[in-house]
Amino acid sequence: MSSAPESHFEGNLLLKALHDDDRALLAPHFERHTYQKGDTLFSAGSEVSFISFPCDQTVATLVIAMQDGRSAETATIGREGAVGGVVSNGCLPASTHAMVQIGGPVIRMDAARLQEAKRRSPTLRNLFTRYSDCLLAQVLQSVACNALHPIEERCLRWLLTLQDRLGSDTLPVTHELFAAMLGVQRTYLTRILRILQQQGLIEVGRGRITILNRTEMESVACECHGNVKRHFETVLGAVYGPEGQLLRLQPPEDAREARRLDPAAVVERASR
Ligand SMILES: [Zn+2]
Repeated sequence: MSSAPESHFEGNLLLKALHDDDRALLAPHFERHTYQKGDTLFSAGSEVSFISFPCDQTVATLVIAMQDGRSAETATIGREGAVGGVVSNGCLPASTHAMVQIGGPVIRMDAARLQEAKRRSPTLRNLFTRYSDCLLAQVLQSVACNALHPIEERCLRWLLTLQDRLGSDTLPVTHELFAAMLGVQRTYLTRILRILQQQGLIEVGRGRITILNRTEMESVACECHGNVKRHFETVLGAVYGPEGQLLRLQPPEDAREARRLDPAAVVERASR
């Protein structure tokens, strides 16, 4: 554990999008950790006492585990976001497991301190509310995709989502992990990946999957990845690069909060 120097904020797009005042409010409470693949950030049922911001190529996953031992991914979160108490406001029991899918640096802070900062700053509240909405949109779209779309399309959605967050064509995922994320048998997944490889979309290697043709993948994938991407663009001002990687977030100001803070608007309201 160490305190997080200023340059490390660059690794997480949500922290990078903070106003200077908000960053000053949060920065004293940041701790930098390094996680390995497979590490648990929190378990279902445990109280979420800290919020984690994956940095650089670190990716975390919210996983639901069933009594029969099977599991499925419900959200994939990388440097565009945060894990833990984002939607629930923290300090409540977790409904899912949060595990590290791709290891690397993570900035952590106490969830209660974040709540306090959000109470004090409308711009911070605006940023996190907008991010929570986008995270929820990702989860809701996954629910529909899992119910309505075939496994090939769910595979493509997951690969595109991961590539957005990593900003790399080569995704360090094993068949075991991928199968667990989609909630299918490994042998079944291997068959599906072989089909996608024969179509020239991906190349499957040992412990990695390489995206060969992103444009073609987007055109044959279901609408789900595109829907979530557009929601991030509209609500959080997400900017994507030509290869799909998430570059930055530029959240619009909350109009009601801005009016509330504007002294002229206060005078205007008072004179009505
Ligand atoms: Zn879909």
